[in-house]
Amino acid sequence: MTRIKILPHDLTLKIAAGEVIEKPASIVKELLENSLDAGATNISITLENGGLESISVIDNGEGMTRQEAILAFERFATSKISRVDDLFNINTYGFRGEALPSIAAIARVEMTTRPRNMPLGVRVMVENGKIIDVWDVDAPFGTRISVDKIFENVPARRKFQKSAATEQSYCLDRITKIALAVPNVRIEVKGKGKTILTIPTAYNLADRVFFVLGPEISKKLLEIQGEKKGIHLKGFIGHPSLSRNSTRFIHFFVNRRPVRDNILLQALMNSYRGYLTTGRYPVAILHVNISPQEVDVNVHPAKAEVRFRDPSTVYSLILELVSQALSSSTFSLKGNVYPLQKEKYTTHSKIDVDSVCEPKTSYLNTENFLSFQSLELLPNPDTPTDMDVFTLFSSDVQYLGSLQNTYLVFTTHRGIILVDQHAAHERIIFDKLNKKLTSSPGMVQHLLIPETITLPPHCMEKITRILPTFEKIGLSVEIFGENTLIVRSVPSETPNLNIEHAIFDILAECENGLETENRLEKIKLDITRILACRGAIKAGEPMSPEEACNLWEELSHARTPLTCPHGRPTLIHLSLRNIEASFLRR
Ligand code: ADP
Ligand code: MG
Repeated sequence: MTRIKILPHDLTLKIAAGEVIEKPASIVKELLENSLDAGATNISITLENGGLESISVIDNGEGMTRQEAILAFERFATSKISRVDDLFNINTYGFRGEALPSIAAIARVEMTTRPRNMPLGVRVMVENGKIIDVWDVDAPFGTRISVDKIFENVPARRKFQKSAATEQSYCLDRITKIALAVPNVRIEVKGKGKTILTIPTAYNLADRVFFVLGPEISKKLLEIQGEKKGIHLKGFIGHPSLSRNSTRFIHFFVNRRPVRDNILLQALMNSYRGYLTTGRYPVAILHVNISPQEVDVNVHPAKAEVRFRDPSTVYSLILELVSQALSSSTFSLKGNVYPLQKEKYTTHSKIDVDSVCEPKTSYLNTENFLSFQSLELLPNPDTPTDMDVFTLFSSDVQYLGSLQNTYLVFTTHRGIILVDQHAAHERIIFDKLNKKLTSSPGMVQHLLIPETITLPPHCMEKITRILPTFEKIGLSVEIFGENTLIVRSVPSETPNLNIEHAIFDILAECENGLETENRLEKIKLDITRILACRGAIKAGEPMSPEEACNLWEELSHARTPLTCPHGRPTLIHLSLRNIEASFLRR
């Protein structure tokens, strides 16, 4: 009695068939999926000449009887479904009975297989799609399928194959992707008598991800897990600084099947909105587990796409879990800042070169060089938090010194950063003062000798209106007599503030009146901006290395660290890549 049957005609009409074996990787994918469907836990793949010459897959799965082995090469012969209803309850990778006949049509196939309970195995030779020989053999249990003479009878397709190295990399991509779907399966890949890749059995997804993606990526992944209306999401998402320039590092699985899916991608990308610049994509390995009745896998010839019955729940589940993870405190990764004088000045960064946001075109025009770079780092007003910020501030930096007592020079392993000390300090103070406006009053710096300021009489009324704002940010001002102010304390952020200049600047901003609530709100921001500008270290003032490093550290905490409150850049970044390009090394 065989479990493999040829599907009835009415059922074959309902199948989105038509998968084309277009390259060695397609063969690897199909054979690997068959082995997994057969319950294999140990799979060995051999690729000769990148899979262009021959491919073999050996598994320890359930094997096939003689009758099954013969039937398996018939079109629409499958053991996985038998009725139309089964199409809505698919738990296997395959279900169309297409793969083996399609492979046999373009190559020579030899299959040796033995179920565990049979004393002997069987070998089937198939050429040009036809079984040419079947005989009994001694064989270990499981199945071995060897494919050679690939595309020999389809020269047009053979011509389209790329180099062995490229085809092999496609195969390995497929294999590692499937490996992320099934952690508890050992997969080994060989070629030219050597082992190319061994993926050991993992006991959970985390171990598998660690193995497949490596430690550098893995240590910047955060696990997420959750459920909504019976739909389960589990997996790992990458810190924004891991971002890539393509979706290649986004792996979605629906019931262990690798899929491309717009709903899933949209949900993921929307969760990263504000963390990544346009054109950058996160690293993510996300498994959606859902009742097979809730998802249609029969919509795409290569089964690479699926259709959810309730896409909005899937969407919101991802959005919620990923957004939550991204904003969680466990996810803030910060690099260390080392002043050059200190002993610890070997810098090692946590970010690999790939992840750096590089300009898309190579830039050799030195005139535009700086401005181009700074533009790269300037946040778009619509996206105040920017992927570059993460990359930048999570790197280890080393302070080299200062240029003109104005520009602080830092190096990272991927470039040079120049910080405008005044603009950066302004940004830091501005953010801190604004925070004080919305929270309880912070530290103040009491003046040893209170300062008195004499104002034109008509200004006194305006000052009275803004006294509460002054108080909130730690600027304690009393009115003394008709035209005099006594300043008793300044905000701790601006110990060296020239308060008289600041007050006159603020009064100038008040020229247009303070009558409406709107104007009062606006003047609060003007006040913090003016105090930040007047209180910040000036260009040309020397800073110690410790102060410079502190400034960098504090800048990394600012909400929009790349611009000062007036919108000027606080820093520019010269990437190693562009430095190399300028020296014509690239
Ligand atoms: P499908 O996977 O869609 O059923 P295939 O053409 O890939 O179609 O395979 C046909 C049938 O051959 C499968 O349904 C399965 O019963 C059997 N088969 C294929 N490969 C293996 C294997 N490695 N181990 C056991 N059975 C297999
Ligand atoms: Mg199959």
